[in-house]
Amino acid sequence: MARPVRLTRRVTFSSGHRYWRSDLTPEQNRALFGEWASPFNHGHNFGLEVTTIGTVNPRDGMVINIKTIDDILQREVVGVFDQRSINDEISAFRDMSPTTENLAAYLAELLSKCLPKESQLDELKLEETATLSAKWRANQVTLTRSYEFAAAHRLNSPELTAEQNVEIFGKCNNAAGHGHNYVLEVEVSGPIDMKSGMMVDLGQLDSIVNEQVVDRYDHKNFNCDLPEFSDKNPTSEVVCLEIFERLAKSLPVKLVSIRLWETARNMFEVRAE
Ligand SMILES: [Zn+2]
Ligand SMILES: [Zn+2]
Repeated sequence: MARPVRLTRRVTFSSGHRYWRSDLTPEQNRALFGEWASPFNHGHNFGLEVTTIGTVNPRDGMVINIKTIDDILQREVVGVFDQRSINDEISAFRDMSPTTENLAAYLAELLSKCLPKESQLDELKLEETATLSAKWRANQVTLTRSYEFAAAHRLNSPELTAEQNVEIFGKCNNAAGHGHNYVLEVEVSGPIDMKSGMMVDLGQLDSIVNEQVVDRYDHKNFNCDLPEFSDKNPTSEVVCLEIFERLAKSLPVKLVSIRLWETARNMFEVRAE
């Protein structure tokens, strides 16, 4: 059996949508959608990444001509969604809230049906904003929200001697510490509520992540200000594990993974097993 190869194609489209159901009263809409409730549209430049999987055809050295995938994406997605109002012009969303998670699930189901058998859908990622995206993979939809905080640390292990710390951590062992603008990605999953179209109340997710992590760590020194690291070496691995445990305990939805970007070139991830 030949080893499969994955192909990813990225397209963008601009669409309007709103969180407002015509079968509900204004009061019911406000109770359901909170601060996002509005009878008027707002819009996004959506980014869609479609990954397909297949084996190379020895005749032409390709899994599939990327143009074939692009033609399908233009015909089924870009041509249908671009410059349209999703609630009004895409029939499936007349009765279904066009949340990021519902859109990702809808597009995955649509593309699963129309991609050719030699290049099946493997993964789909829909970015609604720079801080919100949904991913479909193996029939599961997850939602990823990202946050930022700035914090300082000194890499210094209490298990090692001063000389060993200098030898292992070098500049990062500097007694006065150094800092990073950390980017935290929180990926969650759960059943999508039929009425709101949401797997989690984003306002609630934000307030828990802000309380447990962002507000707690922003403009702090991990070594000096935070009791959870007082006897630990606050490497990004250790910080990432601590954030995972904090959020797994406090979120009202299943935590799938935590990704912590220390710099644009270093990312640490802890996944639920
Ligand atoms: Zn929106
Ligand atoms: Zn550092």
